[in-house]
Amino acid sequence: MEAPKSYDQLLEENRELSIQLEEAQDAIHAIRTGRVDAVIVQGEDGHELYTLKSADQAYRVFIEKMNEGAITLHKDGTILYCNSKFASMLNKPLEKVMGMSIKLFIPLECHQKFQKLSNQGWTSNTKGEINLLTANGEHKPCLMSCNQMELEDGVALSLIVTDLTAQKESEKQLLIKNEQLEQVEQITRGLNFQLEALIAERTQELDLSREQFKFLADNIPVIVWTSKPDGSIDYYNNRWYTYTGLTFEETKDWGWEKVIHPADLQGTLRAWSHSLATGEPYEVEYRFLRNDGRYHWHLGYALPFKDKSGNIIAWFGSCTDIEDQKQQIEKRDEFISIASHELKTPLTSAKGYLEIIGAYKKQHLPPAVSEYINKAKTAVNKLQTLVSDLLDVSKIHAGQLQYDLIDFNLSDLVNTCIENFTHLYPDRHLVCECEKVMLVKGNPGRLEQVIMNLISNAVKYSAAGTEISILAHKEGSNAVIAIIDSGIGLSDEQKQRIFERFYRVEDKKFLTSGLGMGLYISSEIIKAHGGELRVSSEYGEGSTFSIELPLLQK
Ligand code: ADP
Repeated sequence: MEAPKSYDQLLEENRELSIQLEEAQDAIHAIRTGRVDAVIVQGEDGHELYTLKSADQAYRVFIEKMNEGAITLHKDGTILYCNSKFASMLNKPLEKVMGMSIKLFIPLECHQKFQKLSNQGWTSNTKGEINLLTANGEHKPCLMSCNQMELEDGVALSLIVTDLTAQKESEKQLLIKNEQLEQVEQITRGLNFQLEALIAERTQELDLSREQFKFLADNIPVIVWTSKPDGSIDYYNNRWYTYTGLTFEETKDWGWEKVIHPADLQGTLRAWSHSLATGEPYEVEYRFLRNDGRYHWHLGYALPFKDKSGNIIAWFGSCTDIEDQKQQIEKRDEFISIASHELKTPLTSAKGYLEIIGAYKKQHLPPAVSEYINKAKTAVNKLQTLVSDLLDVSKIHAGQLQYDLIDFNLSDLVNTCIENFTHLYPDRHLVCECEKVMLVKGNPGRLEQVIMNLISNAVKYSAAGTEISILAHKEGSNAVIAIIDSGIGLSDEQKQRIFERFYRVEDKKFLTSGLGMGLYISSEIIKAHGGELRVSSEYGEGSTFSIELPLLQK
C-alpha cells in the first residue's frame, strides 16, 4: 500500500494539476481559433499527440461555422476535437465536452447502437440515427455520419452530427396532419355516401313524379304543353300528336303556328308575346286544325312556373276543345235572334190593339176594364223592351247594330232623362247637376237608351229611401255623365265581368229580375261612339257608372 502523501507533495501535485488544466484550456482555445492543430491525449502508454492532417486555420474556422456538429473521436471514444455547434447541441460549454468520452453525451439505451455505428465507421462511411443526451437531460434526435480520418499521428473517427429535432417535429406534425386529413377524408367519404343516397332517392322521386305527370298528361282529354321561358315549346302530351297528326319535330319551339287558323294567328301571337313579356297568365281563343282537316275552336291557357326568386323557369299550358260550347252559343244566339224577330210583330200588334181599346170613346169602359187595359199595356211595354234588348244583343253580336249619328247637345238629352226619371220614379230622391252645353256626335236614341238603363239599374240595385245622383260635366275633351247610387255595390270579380253578355250577379241576398243584357248593350253602344263606359264600386257601398264621350271639336 502506498504511503500517505505529505502536505508538500500534495501541494506540488496540486500545482502541477493546475498547470495542466491551464495548459488544456489554452490548448482548447488554441485549437478552436486555429492557432494550433494538435491535441495531447493521455493514453495507456502515456501522452499521445494528435495533429490534424492538412489542417489549417481556414479549415477549422470553416468547421466552426458549420451548422452541423463536427467531432474528431479517438478510438477509445474520447472527443479529440469538436466544434462549438456540437457543444451547443448538448447545451454545454465547449471545454466541458472536448476531451470527454462521447458516451457521456449519449443516453444509455443508445450506447449499443452508437458502438455498432462507430465500429462500422472505422471501416466504411456509415450513417445512423442516435439520440444525444443534453445537459438538461433531454434526448435530442440526431443523424450521425461516421468516417475514418487519418491524422499525422494515427487514425481518428470523424463524426458529423445533424440535429434532427426540427425534422422530427415536422415529421410529427406531418403525421398529425395526415391523421387529421384521413379523418376529414373519412367524414367526407361518409357525407358523399349520404349525398349519393339522397340524390338517388330524389332522382327516384323525380322519376316517379315525372312518370306520374306524363301518365296524367297523356290520359286527359286536353292538350297539355310546356315551354321554355322564351316561349319555345319543349313538350306536348299524347293528345297533341293524335289531335294534330304532327310530330314533335314539326311543331316544337314555334312550329305550332302552322295549325292555328290564319285569321286567329295574329291575335294568338299578340296574346302569347304579351304574357311572355309580362308574366301574366295567357288566355286566348283560337281555331286549331285537326288531323281530319277541320278547324275546332280551342281555349288556350297557360301559367308561368317560377323559382323561389320569382324568375319564370317554364310555362305550363293547355288547349281545351270548346267547339261544342261555341256551337251551342251560336245556336242560342241564332234562337234568340229568330225568337226576338218572331216576337216583335205580334207584340207590336198587341200594343196597337191595346191603344185602340184604351182610346175607345163611344161607350164608357167600366173602371176595372180600364185598369186591366193599363196593366196589360205595362206588361206589353216590358215585353217589348225585353224583345228589343234581345234583338239588340243579336245585332251587336252579328255586328249589325245601326247608328245614325248626328251632332247634338248631350246636355239636352241628359235633362230629358232627368225628366223621365222624375216621371218614372216619383218617390226616389234625385240629385242632378248638368253642364248647359256639351256638343257630341252620336245617336240620341241609343244614348238615351244607355242613360235610362243605367238609371233603372241604380234604382233597381239600391234601397228605396237612398239618393241617386246624375252628374254631367266636361272633363278635358270628353263629356262625362255619372250615375251614382249608394246601393248594393259590386265586388272586384263582379266588376270585371259586369259588361259581359248575359252576365248577372248571382247574389241570393239581392235577387232581381233581368237577363244581364242592359250593361252589355250599353257598353257596346258607347264603344261604337268612340267612348267608354266605366264602373267604380265597393261591395255594399254603392256604385258609380260613368259614360265618357268625346266632345265635338270646334
Ligand atoms: P240586368 O238586366 O240583370 O240588370 P244588366 O246588364 O243591366 O242586367 O246588369 C248586369 C248585372 O250587373 C246585374 O245583374 C246586377 O247584378 C249588376 N248591376 C248593374 N247595375 C248595378 C248597380 N247600379 N249596382 C249594383 N249592381 C248592378
